[in-house]
Amino acid sequence: MSIFSKGPIPGRKLSIFLPEKKKLNPQQIHCCASMNIFLQDKRMFLNYSSTYREYDIPLLYKRQATALQGITYCPWCSKKLPKSLRHEWFVILEKEYGINDPFDREQEKLIPEEFNSDEWWKKRGL
Ligand SMILES: [Zn+2]
Repeated sequence: MSIFSKGPIPGRKLSIFLPEKKKLNPQQIHCCASMNIFLQDKRMFLNYSSTYREYDIPLLYKRQATALQGITYCPWCSKKLPKSLRHEWFVILEKEYGINDPFDREQEKLIPEEFNSDEWWKKRGL
């Protein structure tokens, strides 16, 4: 059983452990060919979140990912990875939409669709 087979919490749009691997855009260009290949390899514990533009290694407890360890350099080509936009995701949601607790069930419904992908940060030139 893959640790990624567990999808988002039913009825909730947000989840820390979205099965990003299944949503990987094959046209997405990462730092090197190895990164592109291993992000799509289900045996590799490595995630790329297009929403937060960050790379993570899931930490397992009883075969379930319970936390994510962010990485800032590529393990294969050693290039510095782009800065995570997780903080900006929260800041912009609050500043532009007044959403100060996106994990609250009611506020979660107000999150524009663009914030579930890389659309929000690409649009803003981040
Ligand atoms: Zn690389």
